[in-house]
Amino acid sequence: MNHVVVVGAGLAGLRTVEALRGRGFTGRITLMGEERHRPYDRPPLSKAVLKGEADTSFVDTDLDALEVDFWPGVSAKSLRAGVVETTEGEIGYDGLVIATGAEPIRLPGDGLQHVLRTLDDAHELRAVLVPGARVAIIGAGWIGAEVATAARRAGCEVTVVESARAPLSTAVGAEIGARTVPWYDGIDLRLGAMVDSVDEGGVRLVGGEFIEAHVVVTGIGVRPAVGWLAEADIDLHNGVVTDEHLRASLPGTVAVGDCAAWWSRRWGTRLRVEHWDTALNAPEVAAATLLGEEAVYDPVPYFWSEQFGHMIQYAGHHPAGERLVYRGEPEGKWSAVWLTEDDTLAAVLAVDRPRDLVQGRRIIDAGHRLDTERLVDPQVSLRDC
Ligand code: FAD
Repeated sequence: MNHVVVVGAGLAGLRTVEALRGRGFTGRITLMGEERHRPYDRPPLSKAVLKGEADTSFVDTDLDALEVDFWPGVSAKSLRAGVVETTEGEIGYDGLVIATGAEPIRLPGDGLQHVLRTLDDAHELRAVLVPGARVAIIGAGWIGAEVATAARRAGCEVTVVESARAPLSTAVGAEIGARTVPWYDGIDLRLGAMVDSVDEGGVRLVGGEFIEAHVVVTGIGVRPAVGWLAEADIDLHNGVVTDEHLRASLPGTVAVGDCAAWWSRRWGTRLRVEHWDTALNAPEVAAATLLGEEAVYDPVPYFWSEQFGHMIQYAGHHPAGERLVYRGEPEGKWSAVWLTEDDTLAAVLAVDRPRDLVQGRRIIDAGHRLDTERLVDPQVSLRDC
């Protein structure tokens, strides 16, 4: 293989370049990205950058030392075997890495909607989170909760509108989400409220109520950024479909990060995980696969969120129907674990209990069963259950 083209210069794209070089690939690598910035981490955008504690979050890497042709501000527009058409013309490849991530979903309406995906989004939003500003945040998921944290801290008057009956419902279920409701102290949290449109001056709810706002932030989720592949001869279904080696259906192509829906042997299903740990670690497997080596990506998925002074960490995968057991009371530090029918640990969510997370992740990886009677006692460490 002489030339690898990496489309998408986020963390997954960059890490794949690093992994290719780390594995001894000496051919040409082109890394193109729609954004004009060099690769950066996104988690700080809704945390340190939004709070004004940092201005950037560039990944510490040396593109010159990696001998990569970096094309910032260049988008891939379409793909046919061996050729990517870009905003700067066509480029041929022998190996292709699809790492185009995900893009925020917007709501109907003519009003200005902020979203938070890019460094530029974060700077624009930070500039308007000023004391007294009326801020309406649509969606009480991970991004909504973290933006609400920053907006409240900035002295804004915050309303959060969520269509489900609790925050975080889509990700971890309404029962766990309900435990986070008290964290919204001082915030007008509207649960079970559906937004009709974002209009001039605020948000119109289904039913007609209008919530006035100077700033509207839409945080209702993302979709894989694969529009440019619509006409390509490649399987797409909730992202780029790959096997357990991260190999896509088009020969010579791998997909990584938020845009990849890979087959997990461990869970017996296809997973697409929109979290940092996947973008960090999947590239090692993608690079190996591209170079013809044998490698399988089958992690215990992991993510975290920092909201309202709490650290939430999650590891595992819990299809609907798993049994939920709590360790600790909602007012303090607590964890929730999902157990399968035979008491095997499927997933753990830890709130300010990092040890539960670390131990839980290992237990999930090993496929161990737990003693449920010991489990409910938060004083007993997970590894002793
Ligand atoms: P991306 O980071 O989206 O990078 C893809 C890149 O490809 C983008 O720069 C995009 O512009 C570019 N691109 C798209 N289409 C094209 C095209 N056609 N041509 C060229 N380039 C293209 N995860 C956690 O686990 N914990 C957290 O606390 C956390 N916080 C987050 C906070 C925010 C605000 C955001 C946005 C995400 C957060 N995440 C968090 C998720 C994590 O950042 C993502 O999972 C990770 O960034 C995915 O990396 P990626 O490289 O796959 O995709």
